[in-house]
Amino acid sequence: MKKHLYAAAAVTLMALSSFQAAAQRTYLHCGRLIDGLRNQPQTEMTVVVEGNQIVGVEKGYTAPAAGARVIDLKNQTVLPGFMDMHVHFESETSPNQYAEEISLNQGTVAFRSVNYAERTLMAGFTTVRDLGGSGINVQLRNAINQGLVKGPRMFVVGKAISATGGHMDPTNGYREDLQGDPGPAQGVANGPDECRKAVRHQYKNGADLIKIASTGGVLSVAKDGSAPQFTEEEIRAIVQTAKDLGMKVAVHAHGAEGMKRAVRAGVTSIEHGTLMDEETMALIKKNGTWYVPTITAGKSVADSAKIAGYYPPLVTPKALAIGPQLQGTFGKAYKKGVKIAFGTDAGVFMHGKNAKEFEYMVEAGMPAMEAIKAATVYAADLLGMTEKLGTVEKGKFADLVAVSGDPLQDIKLLQNVSFVMKDGKVYKQ
Ligand SMILES: [Zn+2]
Repeated sequence: MKKHLYAAAAVTLMALSSFQAAAQRTYLHCGRLIDGLRNQPQTEMTVVVEGNQIVGVEKGYTAPAAGARVIDLKNQTVLPGFMDMHVHFESETSPNQYAEEISLNQGTVAFRSVNYAERTLMAGFTTVRDLGGSGINVQLRNAINQGLVKGPRMFVVGKAISATGGHMDPTNGYREDLQGDPGPAQGVANGPDECRKAVRHQYKNGADLIKIASTGGVLSVAKDGSAPQFTEEEIRAIVQTAKDLGMKVAVHAHGAEGMKRAVRAGVTSIEHGTLMDEETMALIKKNGTWYVPTITAGKSVADSAKIAGYYPPLVTPKALAIGPQLQGTFGKAYKKGVKIAFGTDAGVFMHGKNAKEFEYMVEAGMPAMEAIKAATVYAADLLGMTEKLGTVEKGKFADLVAVSGDPLQDIKLLQNVSFVMKDGKVYKQ
C-alpha cells in the first residue's frame, strides 16, 4: 500500500515538474527584432525564454512546446531592455527639494523611491546605475532583488564622494550652525587618506561602484559649477582603492580641468562632461573612458531655472549657463569618436521620462541604431556586464521591451513602451 502511494506520488511529482518546466518556457513572437548586435533589425523572429534567461533566438514564428506560453508581439519591435547609466531614485525635481533635504524623514524618501523605480521599469528601463543618494538607494536595490518591490536591476553608488564644500557635500547651503563637518563616512574627503576611507565606507555599506565630483555642479548650493574640486592625487587614491574592491568610478564633471585629472587617474566614466574641449575628448579616447551625456537633465534644469524661485539664487545662473550646452557637447563628442553610454540624470527631471534622451541624441546627429546601442550593448559594456546584459542572445538575462512601429524611423516611439519583461517576468503587456 505504502509502495503504491510512493509510486503514485512520484508519478504526480514527475508530471508536475515536467509541466512546470514546460510552463516556464515563453515564446515571444516578434514582428521586428533589434537585438543590439546587428545594425539591421530582423523580421518575424521568436525569442524563447526559460526562467530568467533567453534560451533561444529563432527565425520565424516557432510553434511553442506543449504547455508553453506565447506572447504575440507580431505588430511590435522588440529590443533589449533599456539601460540608463545615470539616475537618482531618492529624489525628483521640485521647488521644495532643497527644503525637503532637512524636512523629509528617511521613510518618506524610501517610499517615494519605490514609486520612481517602478515608473522607470514601466518606461522600459530594466537596468540603471543609481549615481548617488543617501544610501537608501542601496536598500532599494536589495528590496528589488528580493522581489519586495518593482524596479530595474540597480547598480548603486550609495553616497557620492566629494571634497568639503564640493558638489556632493551634503550640507552645502545649510546655515553655519547646521553644517557640521561631514567626513569620509558622509562622503566628504580631503587628501588621499580620507579619499581611501570614503571609498571603503561606501564598499562597507553595499555600494556596487563609486561616484565622485571632480568639479562643481549645477544643483549644489555653491557658487562655482565647473572648477576642479579634487587633486589628481586624490582621484588616483579613489580609483586605486575602488579597483582593489572590484568597483568602477563614475565622475561628475562639467569643467575640462577636472575631467582631465579624472581621466588621467583612470576613472571609468565622465558624467555630463559639459565643457569638454577637443584636448579632453582626445584624452578620453586615448584612455577608453566612457562618456555619459545626460542631455535631458541639461535641458530640463535650464527650463526650470526660467521659473522664478524654482532654484536657490546661487543655482539659477549655473543652470542657465551650463544646462543648454550639453546637447552640443554630446554631438561633438560623438563625431570625435568618444565612447558614449546612455544616461539621463533622471531625478533632476521626472522619473520615467528617461527615453526622451534618445530623441535628443538623434537630434544632435547620432543615428537611431547607435542611440539604441548606447542604451543597451554599450551600457552593458560600461557596467562590465556584457556576458549577461545588453543584447537579445542565448544565455543573456531575459530583459526585453517592445514598442509599436519602427523606432529606427521614429525614435520618439521609444517613449511609449508597450511591453516590459525583466528577468523573464512580464511587468507590462
Ligand atoms: Zn546626477
